[in-house]
Amino acid sequence: MTAPEQGANAELARRFRTRISTFIRKYATTLEVNDSQALLLQFTPDARELSDIIGFSDDPLHEEDADIHPFGDVVHKYPNKLLYLSTDECPVYCRYCTRKRKTLLSQGHESTQLSLIAEYLESHSAINEVIFSGGDPLMLPPKDFLLRARTFLNVQSIDFLRLHTRALTTAPNLLSAGFLAALADLRTQFAGKTIAFVAHINTASEISDRTREAVEALNRLGIRCYAQTVLLRDVNDDAQTLALLCKALSAAGVQPYYLHQLDRVTGSAHFEVADDEALQIYAQLRQLVPRYLVPEFVRDSKQGKKPVA
Ligand code: SF4
Repeated sequence: MTAPEQGANAELARRFRTRISTFIRKYATTLEVNDSQALLLQFTPDARELSDIIGFSDDPLHEEDADIHPFGDVVHKYPNKLLYLSTDECPVYCRYCTRKRKTLLSQGHESTQLSLIAEYLESHSAINEVIFSGGDPLMLPPKDFLLRARTFLNVQSIDFLRLHTRALTTAPNLLSAGFLAALADLRTQFAGKTIAFVAHINTASEISDRTREAVEALNRLGIRCYAQTVLLRDVNDDAQTLALLCKALSAAGVQPYYLHQLDRVTGSAHFEVADDEALQIYAQLRQLVPRYLVPEFVRDSKQGKKPVA
């Protein structure tokens, strides 16, 4: 390694956290070379992350703005939904993470007293859904997750609980017997309320037998799984790759839900696919799979998701 490369690696290590789960390290060795590269590219530090590019920032969705940020770990930008940033930890750190300020750049997680969030929910009765995100909520010890989930579901207006997770593909062991028992408890205690998982999955080859088993275990509890995907250069930037993903999700019992245009977060510009090309890819995808398997192609913002146009 040359001296400039060593310097770049040291600077990357200083600026951004890196984590690649043991599961992914082993699983990548079982894949074809192209699939393995596409998988590891998402989590491997790259000197291009050090370029400062206009339009890219640590908080591209302005989630830290006071008007939608009542607590350090809560974002309230839709009238009916509350985003709960339950942890800064993930089994992998995606280099393009929207919430890089909480994950790769974490300065330590800030937990709000649960009673304060419950009071907030009670006083905002239009909120009917709490979304656990982060970080990855499957990194929470099951008893901590259960305590939080119970607190939120005990609020009368909360009918829906959602978990956004990357772990079904990157660390399926985190959906442990203990976590499944916590979900089963919630399903029994709050039988009239809905729990759903939205799994972040970017390519068909990420779906392992362990992922399929995890989805089946959730289905047995009456918990449905949806998928969100980020369009990424050199990972899934063609219609055939996305069509394979949609078919593989369907075969695994997961409903394609959103395809996200990249959020312009610091250090992620090399993953971006320009809108013109992205829209062509999406138009081709619509010809390759039935309409019911086509995810909605959206761009997120402080004001919420909008179709990419
Ligand atoms: S798993 Fe999710 S929250 Fe964690 S780094 Fe990846 S995109 Fe961000």
